[in-house]
Parts: sequence; C-alpha cells; structure tokens
Amino acid sequence: MKREPFINNRLFCPGPTPVPDRVKHAALDTSLYHRSDDFYALFLDCCNKLKPIFGSDTLPLILAASGTGAMEAAMVNLTAAGDEVVVLNAGKFGERWEKLAKAYGCNVEVVRSPAGEAPGSDEAVAALKKLKSPRAIFMQANETSTGVRLPYEDIAQTVRSAFPHCLIVVDAISSLCAHPMKMEKMGIDCVVAGSQKGFGMAPGLAFIALSSRAWKSISKRERFYFDLERERKGQEKGRSAWTSPISLVQNLSEALLLIHEAGIDAVLAQHARHGAAARAAVHAMGLKLFPKGHYSDALTTVAVPQGLDGQALQNHLKSRYGAVFAGGQDELKGKILRFAHLGFVSRFDLLDGIAALEFSLKDLGWRFETGSGVGAAMRSL
Ligand SMILES: *Cc1c(COP(=O)(O)O)cnc(C)c1O
Repeated sequence: MKREPFINNRLFCPGPTPVPDRVKHAALDTSLYHRSDDFYALFLDCCNKLKPIFGSDTLPLILAASGTGAMEAAMVNLTAAGDEVVVLNAGKFGERWEKLAKAYGCNVEVVRSPAGEAPGSDEAVAALKKLKSPRAIFMQANETSTGVRLPYEDIAQTVRSAFPHCLIVVDAISSLCAHPMKMEKMGIDCVVAGSQKGFGMAPGLAFIALSSRAWKSISKRERFYFDLERERKGQEKGRSAWTSPISLVQNLSEALLLIHEAGIDAVLAQHARHGAAARAAVHAMGLKLFPKGHYSDALTTVAVPQGLDGQALQNHLKSRYGAVFAGGQDELKGKILRFAHLGFVSRFDLLDGIAALEFSLKDLGWRFETGSGVGAAMRSL
C-alpha cells in the first residue's frame, strides 16, 4: 500500500530513539578540538551530569563505543580469566553477558529464564551457591528483547547480603532514564548505559560507572582500549584517553541539559505513565502483552495473536505509516511486536505510535473498535 503524502518516518524501536532538534543542532559547531580547555570543560560537565542518573558516588565515564563496548569494559576490568561468575540470561542481551564472560575466559554459571519471564533473587542466590568463590554477577535492568524489567534492586540487595564479596554488574542500557537507578544506594557495583536509548541521541557513546568498592577491586588482566583506570585518571580532568567523538559529546551535553531541566524524577515518572498507558492501549485493542508481568516502562511488547503475521504488521507500520517498530529476534521472530517509549518521548509521540498501530491492525483485518487503544491511553494519561 502506498504511503500517504507528508508522512515522515518516526522511531518507536528500542534504540535508536527520537532525537530532539535542540540535541541535533548542538553539534553544528565543528571547530572544537578535543585537546582544548573548552572541550575538557564540556566533557567533564557531561560526566558530572550523568552522576545523578546513575546514582553513583563516583564519576561515570564516557566511552566511544556502542553499549556493548561498555559491557566489554565491565567484563575486562572487573574479571580475570578463570574467575567464577553468574549470568542472569533472560533473553538476547543476557546471552550477550554470557558470550562476553566466556570470550574472556570466565567460568560461567548461567540462569536462563524462559522468554518473557524475569529471574528472581532466589535463582540468583542458588546459582551463586554452586560456585566456590563467585567474583561477579551480571544481569540486565531491562531485557530489551522481550520487554521485561528485571527486579534488579531486589536481586542486588539479596546478593549483597548473601555474598558480600560478589560484584554486582547491571546492564541498564535500555533502562536508564526509564526506571530508577541509584547504584550506590541499591548496592550495585557497576552500571553500563548507551547514548541511543534513554538519552535522546544517536548511537556511538557508552557510559559506565563503578562503585567505590569496584574501583578498589579492578582485576589483573591485560587490557588496552577499555582500560578504565586510565580513563578515570584522564576523565576526572575532562580528558578521554583516545580521541573523543566530539560531535556526540556536544549532543550529549544538550541532551543532559534537557533531562536536568525537566528533572530526572519527572522523566522517570513520565516513563512510568507512558508504560501504563501503552499497556492499557494494548488491552483495549484486544491484544495481549508478551511478558508475564515485570512489565518494562521503556518498551511494551505485544504478543502477536493467531491470525496476524507479526512481520507483515511491522512492515505495514513502516511502509504505510512511517512508524518504525521492532519485531522479535530468533525464535520470537514474527511472534512479538516491540513498541518503545524510551527517551525523549512526549504523550503526543506515544499516542502517535498507538494510532499508527490501530490503523495498521485495521488494514490487516484485526477486529476491534477504532480509537479504543488511543482512548484507553488518553484516559490512562
Ligand atoms: C541496546 C542494548 C545493548 C547494547 O547494544 P549496542 O548495539 O551495543 O548499543 C545492550 N543491552 C541492552 C539491554 C540493550 O537494550
């Protein structure tokens, strides 16, 4: 079906997320040198503004990498070959921790959760008990492949009291700005994040924060690009070890300004409202959510019902209405539709996504009352 005039593409996928004009325009000045006082001040200001978003006592660091780079940095700086670690694998991104741990020679005990479910603190403790001297536990805050929010705070607190020497590492790449993170207070030792998820900017920057005790416990292993001690010493003065992606740091500076202007608590509350509204819309359209509870406020995952083709729905949303949703990966291909409301998303953006979904479902023959999804979301808001 041909697209109507004047319809632009809009992103409703869980990364990259929409970029506000102010953030986009912040990188127009291309006369900045990354070894200059101007840039050091800009860079250090970004690190400082990340601090309350991580809830860290120490300075979060900025790396030139996609989110996976920060995951790798966590692995190479906090473990050594032969270390025993636990990985909570609730989907594609949990699997990434598992692959990383294996690639770097760790002895990995994996807790695998069925798709759409979250592991609990009991399973984490049971897995740690199987090891002689567990060095670290790795998990996601939000498993983006299924739309499940893990009970990371509860897991962290339980693990911290049962295994006080075990480092707790959380991939919050699709969770920061959507779900609360107070890593020091929650007893979390390392949090990683990425620019293209909650931060309203393009991919290319990764963030990592370590607790004070994690900084005292850096492992002995060979490392080079992601040497966090080297980065920390430089970044405390605004100097990255390698050339900074200057334009991305300019974007970040503006994005963080927007977040702090709104207030991080207001941003978190908005994600919670949008998550609830999206779930209400899904039910009102006669559809079901894919996760069995533990719903994410960063994205809503719809179980594609019998009689509908998930891939066709995703294609139709894009081709006819310019709405870029995400489907499922691997065994979830065609079975789920992922609708992200992460980052710089207003209530009008959210309703736009729901309306595009309604029009597409109608076009493909799904029967429900037109406007029921949008109406339910509006009433919820
Ligand atoms: C997006 C994402 C990543 C990182 O992916 P990159 O493509 O390397 O940026 C890691 N973990 C989670 C949970 C994610 O959502």
